[in-house]
Amino acid sequence: MSNDLLQTAALNLKKAVPLMLKYKIPTTPTNYALWYAYVGEQNPALNQELDNLIQQNISYSPVSSELLYRKHVSDPVELDVRTMRQSLDAMVCDLSQSLKDTNQDTVSFQSRIEKDFNKLNELESQGFSLEQVIGVVRSIVKESTSIRSSAVNFSQQLLKAQSEIDTLKVKLAETEKDMLFDALTNVLNRRAFDEDIRAIVAQKTAGNCLVLLDIDHFKAFNDNYGHQLGDMVLKTVAKRVQEGCRDGTKLYRFGGEEFAIIIPKSQLRVARQLADGLRRAIEKLTLKDRRNDTKIDAITASFGVSEWQPGQSVAEFIEATDKLLYQAKHLGRNRVMPMSG
Ligand code: GH3
Ligand code: MG
Ligand code: MG
Repeated sequence: MSNDLLQTAALNLKKAVPLMLKYKIPTTPTNYALWYAYVGEQNPALNQELDNLIQQNISYSPVSSELLYRKHVSDPVELDVRTMRQSLDAMVCDLSQSLKDTNQDTVSFQSRIEKDFNKLNELESQGFSLEQVIGVVRSIVKESTSIRSSAVNFSQQLLKAQSEIDTLKVKLAETEKDMLFDALTNVLNRRAFDEDIRAIVAQKTAGNCLVLLDIDHFKAFNDNYGHQLGDMVLKTVAKRVQEGCRDGTKLYRFGGEEFAIIIPKSQLRVARQLADGLRRAIEKLTLKDRRNDTKIDAITASFGVSEWQPGQSVAEFIEATDKLLYQAKHLGRNRVMPMSG
């Protein structure tokens, strides 16, 4: 990164922070990156979406920030965590310099004061009254104390800002780990699911549906063709299911070969239809094992679908859905339960 770019980066970050404070945006690394991109004005679609959020006064969850980040920042624009880190480094450099300047100012001020004191001594010996001399001394001492204390204050503020930035840097380094996405399939992970399902249940409103999807006889793929091909099956299924999830419907890797789908503002009937569409799409998938030219076209999955019922806890909601998934397995797999909704 050139010096110019670094300066722009530091400048953008300085603009982003007050905005985030103004709109009470949690100061997470992802949000920093989002607002950094926002003030950079390189990405009209992102600015539009954030402007809408601000206007509607919607507080967005960590998951939505993460999705916004993925959609607008991390992929299309080459602006990654590394860039952020570099701009933070630039800011720290900046701050250290100001800190040094301040200290130098203080030191030179002190030496000047000392000179003045010497002069005053001379004045006294030249016959000025003691009261006159003390009066001058008092005013100089007063001035020097106030200037010094404000300099110390400023230094402390700078130090604090520097330590905040250091903390932010550590957090940024953890971002990759904290990501709410599953490394293998690239869909949202279990952590994201836990957060979102909790939020949905906390709303206590009807019309929120959960789908649990489990790939049928998945162990056989591993046993027959190896773990690597098993991974390929997982990726392929996740990709296809993701394509079928629109309008606020989110897909998560629930664990192993199990996926979860949260469909907000939907009736059981509609959620069931979506699940059955996905079931048919998975059934049609084919996959080639290049190493031995095997074609795999027997991928199927079973589904449990349920709508949140008033009074149901998160655990009860999941358990009720899991029971339906179990029934689908028991009845012969490659099906959606309940049979009608
Ligand atoms: P069922 O139709 O009853 O669901 O049978 P199944 O074989 O799909 O279910 P089972 O729970 O017996 O086996 C799941 C297997 O999934 C076992 C585990 O080794 C495999 N598995 C879990 N995670 C991964 C993964 O990330 N990659 C691969 N390749 N296999 C995985
Ligand atoms: Mg399973
Ligand atoms: Mg299975």
